[in-house]
Amino acid sequence: MKLFKRLTVLAVILSLGVISFSCSDSSTGTNPDDDPQEFNSKAAPGDSARSFLSNNQYTSLEVEIDYMPGHEPTQDGLNSLQTFLEERLNKQSISLTNKTQIPSGEQSSYTIEDIRSLENKHRDNFTKASGNTLHVYFLMVNGEYSDGQGSGENVLGVAYWNTSVAFLGKRMEDISGEPPVNPSEEKIESTVFRHEFGHNMGLVGNGSPMQTDHKTSGSAHCTTDGCLMEPSVRTTDFFSNFSGSVPSLDDLCIDDLQANGGK
Ligand SMILES: [Zn+2]
Ligand SMILES: [Zn+2]
Repeated sequence: MKLFKRLTVLAVILSLGVISFSCSDSSTGTNPDDDPQEFNSKAAPGDSARSFLSNNQYTSLEVEIDYMPGHEPTQDGLNSLQTFLEERLNKQSISLTNKTQIPSGEQSSYTIEDIRSLENKHRDNFTKASGNTLHVYFLMVNGEYSDGQGSGENVLGVAYWNTSVAFLGKRMEDISGEPPVNPSEEKIESTVFRHEFGHNMGLVGNGSPMQTDHKTSGSAHCTTDGCLMEPSVRTTDFFSNFSGSVPSLDDLCIDDLQANGGK
């Protein structure tokens, strides 16, 4: 039993480490310059950071949530995400109530291409260039992530387009358990949901210009230990984070968001 617990904790740590460097896919679907009159929903994560953060044009944010059977996000996880968004985004309203179950993808793992084609099939709401509502797509799949080269199974979430995030519901469930030995599903969701939305807000140095250099080399993450956007979580930090509270953004990340129109 002791060994099992240790292995579980190790799996969680590995997963969190991997989220951090694999969770933002920077390739784009179409050229954002194709038509300036249209809002391009297939640009890279961080490209619409200002639209997320400021109230210059988009005063409302609506998140469309699609989930596969058995992987409806918990209400606590969504409430935590809503609180985070309200703390950081200059919006009059933020809605995460548009939740729909979609059919199972019938796969044990999903590549970024699989996730994009699921969005193409199921997403209903898109941002209008002339509108006031920024629409975001949130997808929860019933499998693991695959990078297409035989790994990626420890990834829990990915920001894959400028207004799109996906979560690996099966992996989140696998590593959750009874606190304090294992983090609860709500705590894992809160952390991963917030982290991935952080990428869409342009963190770190990827859409929201840095006020002070704090970007890790090779990925869009924060160099501050304990920050929500840090790339890897050390054992003890990780454990105390999860037995206590979900990691927060540090001041350097918050400065960047505020300088780009956020709160
Ligand atoms: Zn990340
Ligand atoms: Zn930070």
